[in-house]
Amino acid sequence: MIDFHCHLDLYPDPRAAAERASQAGVYVLSVTTTPKAWQGTAMLAQGLPRVRTALGLHPQLAHERHAEMALFEGLLGQTRYVGEVGLDGSPELKPHAGVQRRIFDRVLWACAKAGGRVISIHSRRAADDVLDALARRPDAGVPVLHWFSGTARQLERAVAMGCWFSVGPAMLSSPKGLALVGAMPRERILTETDGPFGIARGRPLEPGDVVLAEVELAKVWRCGTDEVRGHLFNTFRNLARTTSGFGGPPVKAS
Ligand code: MN
Repeated sequence: MIDFHCHLDLYPDPRAAAERASQAGVYVLSVTTTPKAWQGTAMLAQGLPRVRTALGLHPQLAHERHAEMALFEGLLGQTRYVGEVGLDGSPELKPHAGVQRRIFDRVLWACAKAGGRVISIHSRRAADDVLDALARRPDAGVPVLHWFSGTARQLERAVAMGCWFSVGPAMLSSPKGLALVGAMPRERILTETDGPFGIARGRPLEPGDVVLAEVELAKVWRCGTDEVRGHLFNTFRNLARTTSGFGGPPVKAS
């Protein structure tokens, strides 16, 4: 199983959550929300070969943490994964739209300069702005739009631009989310939980809960869950292959 966007460091007992994920055999992209969190979160992955740590600066924190951008650039050589980064166009964050955009542009510039990264991207209410930024920096790496919630037209544009997607149980439980997932190319979809923010059945999701997303994908794709799991693993391997020329330590899919 694959959880391509999970905040392991934000569970009450992060190491226990990381170990449970590994015991369940889940490959986890452990995303961070601030550059300062990277070192400690990367430590969580020690001895757990299926866990990869991504360097992030969350758009909802950009206005408070923009000074950590220098640290971000200093750490970027240690990982091939970046996230969570992106833009958030929610009304309460409108005053911070400028700093968000500067940070995201700088992140993409740094990724390009480093030779490309796999980038887990937040685009809530900002799909067009995110796609515009990616279009200005096509050499940033492979964008993976996490929990995409734009319009069908924005999705079409994202697909045409070569974006990948990570989808979770919450997204797959709404009719709009299901319609979007149905329109995404199957060979560019990975599963995620966004735990502990992602919630299902009244509790925070853990990496092992990607099985809930597999069950829903099986309905969308009209096949069995075994087939879904095999397909997702191939996709994951293809992503590793696609990005094998990126700078930094290896991207492993097995
Ligand atoms: Mn997240």
